[in-house]
Amino acid sequence: MKTCIITTDTYLNHDTGQGHPEKPDRVTVIIDHLKKIKSKNLIWKKPAKFDFGYLEFAHDKNYLSNVKDSFPKQGLNFLDGDTIVSPGSKDAARDAVGSILTAIDGVMKKDLDNAFCAVRPPGHHAEKQKAMGFCVYNNVAVGAYYLLEKYNLKKVAIIDFDVHHGNGTQDIFYDNEKVLYVSTHQYPYYPGSGSDKERGKYNNILNIPLPAGTTSEEYLNAYEHVLKKLKEFKPEFILFSAGFDAHKDDPLAQLQLNSKDYYDLTKRTLSLAKLHCNGKVVSILEGGYNLNALQESTEMHVGALLEFN
Ligand SMILES: [Zn+2]
Repeated sequence: MKTCIITTDTYLNHDTGQGHPEKPDRVTVIIDHLKKIKSKNLIWKKPAKFDFGYLEFAHDKNYLSNVKDSFPKQGLNFLDGDTIVSPGSKDAARDAVGSILTAIDGVMKKDLDNAFCAVRPPGHHAEKQKAMGFCVYNNVAVGAYYLLEKYNLKKVAIIDFDVHHGNGTQDIFYDNEKVLYVSTHQYPYYPGSGSDKERGKYNNILNIPLPAGTTSEEYLNAYEHVLKKLKEFKPEFILFSAGFDAHKDDPLAQLQLNSKDYYDLTKRTLSLAKLHCNGKVVSILEGGYNLNALQESTEMHVGALLEFN
């Protein structure tokens, strides 16, 4: 049984313009670093092609058709103030979604124990009908719907530890009792949503807002509420929206996590996943903008995934 890294090289051609923090190097340093892990239990796969119909569960048809028309033949195009696409973005965005679906297929067919998708563009700010915050398709939301629709699961949990609130994922599942969305994030902060009063129609949303300056210890204490909610929900599958921008060295936010905290939070979650869903976990990259912090933190995260395979 294996932990799998799902990635491919199309992310290199998703050009967001000079000086943009969501740049190709982010994924390149992660891949280069993870390649140094010597373990026969760590394998690599490329995303498979998939039926684009699955995108329609998470996004409106007119949004998808606008996105399709937005990829320029040359130069850059702005979907919002900071969500930029280039000619190569079409394949990169497709493969980001394809990666999580390939990972899910591998885990559901028991070829893999768990997986991490090293992809860009990220997804958790993309709403049903809106691109936002570097995100085009909501990769993790399409993954959750894939579990509900293709595999008939009734309870899927998404844990989002990116420092920003996943407004898109919350928007898409606000009134869906089959999906639990739990987010820890700096608050108040971009994108503005994520107060603890936003609970979803079925109490299926748990927001854990944290002030700027939150330390590792305070964060990990708060993370116990994530685990408690998971225990109550008893998910059949857990998806991680894995952003690493709550790291103390990240230039975009002000939480104070260390790289090793990503090992701790992953391990605690996987212990619970073992009990409730046979360890079925798939993780996908969201944010994280300090390259050194990003490579260390993803190594910690994947290290914990490897321990549980
Ligand atoms: Zn973020």
